[in-house]
Amino acid sequence: MNLLCPHCRAFVVPGAQSCGMCGMSLLREAVPGSSEPVCAVHPHLLSLSACERCGSFACPQCLRRSDRGEALCASCHERLPAGLVAWDEREVHGTLKAYWNTCLDIMFRPMPTFERLRPTGSQGSSLGFAALSSFVGSFTTMLIYMGFMAFFPMPDETMRADNVNPQAFRYLGAGLFGVVILLTPLLGVLTTLFTSGLDHLLLRLMGTAQPFEVTLRGNSLSQAPFLLGLIPFCGIYVAPLWAFGLRIIAYKNMHGVSWGKATAGALAAPLMTCCVCGGGYLALFMAVAGISGGVGG
Ligand SMILES: [Zn+2]
Ligand SMILES: [Zn+2]
Ligand SMILES: [Zn+2]
Repeated sequence: MNLLCPHCRAFVVPGAQSCGMCGMSLLREAVPGSSEPVCAVHPHLLSLSACERCGSFACPQCLRRSDRGEALCASCHERLPAGLVAWDEREVHGTLKAYWNTCLDIMFRPMPTFERLRPTGSQGSSLGFAALSSFVGSFTTMLIYMGFMAFFPMPDETMRADNVNPQAFRYLGAGLFGVVILLTPLLGVLTTLFTSGLDHLLLRLMGTAQPFEVTLRGNSLSQAPFLLGLIPFCGIYVAPLWAFGLRIIAYKNMHGVSWGKATAGALAAPLMTCCVCGGGYLALFMAVAGISGGVGG
């Protein structure tokens, strides 16, 4: 709901005591006997707006702005839940327990969790969640590949033909997977920043006024299903789809947009990636076709 300055009809923010446009005070004395609504707490002042939760009339001194931009009376604003997930309070719970509980809440109770979730949160905290998710998501599978490289008997003929020491080849392969495991948190952070940036760009184009940290928080927390990555191989394929569904719920609630816009926002990064990769493949294909055509002709 938009609040209007009673003097110049400019939009004012809940909580402001004076108009940013004309500079007039928004506090107006009630005229005895007038039919204009007065504040429920300060009966000598005219109400600027009714509270969007309880409907009681409130003067500018009593109005507060919620995280979602609603105009609330002071008592409703006080009763707002803090809207935190366990991850926000990991100093209290311990990092791993906070991560585990947050993942379960988001995976199995996404609607109530995102509905009451405070949209804003520090970017570092969001990226920390993303880093851990990407580590957890690929850890078991990578570990198995690593073990496979190190211990599985190799076809020795090819090794001898190339004059490569099979033992060295083995440890090199296992070592590479080890390095990949160590790099996954960094890759997770970079991917999350990139995809959140694309999503945010589209959400902004569609009219949301929320800052980037909101998109980043939604994008990171919706990576909770990567917990399934602990189950080797299968988790890695189920998690992205599940995360995509959760991202729509996250954007809808945290940006306060429609389901359609939230879906479009969540689709921005995957679509863009497909276009870029698809375009790349197409260009490569045309180049190869062109070269072979040139050679043939
Ligand atoms: Zn004004
Ligand atoms: Zn209220
Ligand atoms: Zn008041």
